[in-house]
Amino acid sequence: MKENTMFKSAIRRTALLLLFAVAGIGAAPASCAGQSSAGPAPAPPSKARTATPQTATSTADEPGPTNVILMIGDGMGLAQIHAGAAIRRGQMAMFHYDHMGLVETRSASHYVTDSAAAGTAMATGVSTTNGFVGLDPEQKPHPSILSLAKAAGMATGIVVSTSAVDATPAAFFAHHPDRWDGEAIALDFVDAPPDVFIGGGRRYFNARSDGRNLLDNLKRAGYAIAASREELENESSDRLAAFLFDDKPPPVSNGRGDFLPAAVTKAIALLSGEPDGFFLMVEGAQIDSGGHARDLTYQSTETADFDDAVAVALAFSSKRTDTLVIVTADHETGGLTITNGNPQAGTVEGAYGLDNHSGIMVPIFASGNSAGLFSGVYRNTDIFEKIRVARKL
Ligand SMILES: [Zn+2]
Repeated sequence: MKENTMFKSAIRRTALLLLFAVAGIGAAPASCAGQSSAGPAPAPPSKARTATPQTATSTADEPGPTNVILMIGDGMGLAQIHAGAAIRRGQMAMFHYDHMGLVETRSASHYVTDSAAAGTAMATGVSTTNGFVGLDPEQKPHPSILSLAKAAGMATGIVVSTSAVDATPAAFFAHHPDRWDGEAIALDFVDAPPDVFIGGGRRYFNARSDGRNLLDNLKRAGYAIAASREELENESSDRLAAFLFDDKPPPVSNGRGDFLPAAVTKAIALLSGEPDGFFLMVEGAQIDSGGHARDLTYQSTETADFDDAVAVALAFSSKRTDTLVIVTADHETGGLTITNGNPQAGTVEGAYGLDNHSGIMVPIFASGNSAGLFSGVYRNTDIFEKIRVARKL
């Protein structure tokens, strides 16, 4: 108890020191500009940090990407990446990216975001209230980058190691003020499904409280339905809804195997036949679960598994010039820090400060066509804008 109090007062002192440091630095983040008007060196206006002017000029005379793959490690901060790299003895696909940046993750309602608001920021470019998917704070729906891609004739896909109706995938197709209302979000899914979905959450479609079987709606719309790994592997339809799990898949440390990288391989094979290109969102969802559980083995094995999926995307994009691959996170989970490790043995030790999300910035990596747009420090809403400008959507 005493230790805890001392820890808290140490945090308060550190916070105070940081505040002084920020006030004295000219290039303070835009978020602080309003509060530091009495400081010695006012920060530049926040407009200077928005993405559009820079991205517009840097892509004006080059053809943008045909294909875009956006990969989101839910809860994957720098310490989680470090822990994943440690158990892989430093061999991470993520480290082979051409450009990197840092992303501020706060939502419109909270300094510490949830996955719904962060997913919505990346999917629609709108900063919103925690808990909302695809809506702004006034509950007005906004089109996602996936729906813009679809409208432009691109093929679209979602691959997740969680349920289809979880907050992160939901932000790309749903418009709902309650991220936990899985059955309502499933209705939004069948209204505007991606061409290819691979993940879990079947029960929100075929074991609903209203008695409806939404898998029939998908079949009527021309979708092949897969319910097992074998069915998925034998499927060649370019309209596919593969619900391999009733709800959330198990952790990779408890029998999920190579589901996620294999699903990304399959999705790319099905989507890449479209001449107008494709947009694919991939979520490594359970890095977050490991952080909530304060379980470093859970979290680092999920990060390493997500990196295997990243390797699949890189193997596809590195052979061509028309594909942009982006890897980032919606927020950090667990307040993880690394306390020890042994690179030869592939082991790592860490300590969790939280069993929830933290407010720290998350890394972003980009590779391939227009990847340079993703260098820098910016808000999560700019990810939408940068993809939109690069792909000319
Ligand atoms: Zn979480």
